[in-house]
Amino acid sequence: MSESNHPVIEFDHVSKIYPNGVVGLKDIDLTINQGEFVVVVGLSGAGKSTLMRAINRLHDISEGDVRIDGISITKAKGKKLLNIRRKIGMIFQSFNLVNRSSVLKNVLTGRVGYYPTWKMVLGLFSAEDKQRAYDALRTVELEDKVYTRADQLSGGQQQRVAIARALTQTPTIILADEPIASLDPQTTKRVMDDLRRINQEMGITVVANLHSVEVAQAYATRIIGIRAGQKVFDGPVTEATDEIIASIYSGNEQEVS
Ligand code: ADP
Repeated sequence: MSESNHPVIEFDHVSKIYPNGVVGLKDIDLTINQGEFVVVVGLSGAGKSTLMRAINRLHDISEGDVRIDGISITKAKGKKLLNIRRKIGMIFQSFNLVNRSSVLKNVLTGRVGYYPTWKMVLGLFSAEDKQRAYDALRTVELEDKVYTRADQLSGGQQQRVAIARALTQTPTIILADEPIASLDPQTTKRVMDDLRRINQEMGITVVANLHSVEVAQAYATRIIGIRAGQKVFDGPVTEATDEIIASIYSGNEQEVS
């Protein structure tokens, strides 16, 4: 599958000011199309995580509008907000698995947005959803770990379970917030390869924020550079020259693009 011209994520003059006055994002305009593999890079504290969390409204923005598939998540409430969030899977640096639960149970929680709470508590998942969970585990090649407790897996395996959990949600977008920060190079490759396969074969849009420029250049189709809450570069990976990368990571406030 390839990229399309269908916008799945749109930022319209988005700013975020934290309650303590820190400016997280400053007037960001952005359109990400279906099927893109976007990597957000920048210094620690630049606003990468803030940008990511604005996409699925893990926190509210202060100004502007964020649209998912053309619908404002900024203005959405109740069921409408839930419906938009279902389309967005997320994986984190710290995996966020329930350590004492089995891999299967963890992956099934990807369906949480589709069930009333009481069914979740009782673990009443449909056969179809269990199948989805097995399929997702097959995609990340962990089908033999279905009944293993999450805390008995290696870090890389845990992150792949987190990817399977996101897939079980049947998302159109996967957000990956520093997904490889706690992994060694070999495991990093495995996790990034999984994300690339999901992007290319399933057409799921991936937005990841990464510390490593080398990994960003190896996997991204497009790079977004953030500095001090502002978008300072946005273009195809081929245009992100060493000079531009150095400028994204510099302390100087001059625009690079
Ligand atoms: P990055 O992901 O690029 O490391 P962040 O998005 O986490 O950067 O942070 C951007 C800026 O916002 C930083 O100055 C950070 O200290 C600040 N920040 C992040 N989260 C909060 C918060 N909950 N309250 C106040 N300031 C925050």
